Amino acid sequence: MAGSPPEPTRQCIGCRSRAPRSSLVRLVADEGAPGGCRVDRGRNQPGRGAHIHPREECVDEATKRRALPRALRALPGSSVDISKVRAEILGARL
Ligand SMILES: [Zn+2]
Repeated sequence: MAGSPPEPTRQCIGCRSRAPRSSLVRLVADEGAPGGCRVDRGRNQPGRGAHIHPREECVDEATKRRALPRALRALPGSSVDISKVRAEILGARL
């Protein structure tokens, strides 16, 4: 759309490249969820979020590097586990 401001970019916690926000899935901490986090479908949940491409490579990379607990500033020993929301990330409709 002509004249609209450029879309903000966010860094993917998997491949660490920057991408338009709309191409990434937002994750937020949620103590009550099985993996300590959940997909923020509306991208409107308050609090610290993490962004990731809905791609296997990115989820695998983030899992390997334990990037999600870090991105969400999870407390040591907390149960933030990206594998619990893997299917939801990969199935997200952007
Ligand atoms: Zn990525």
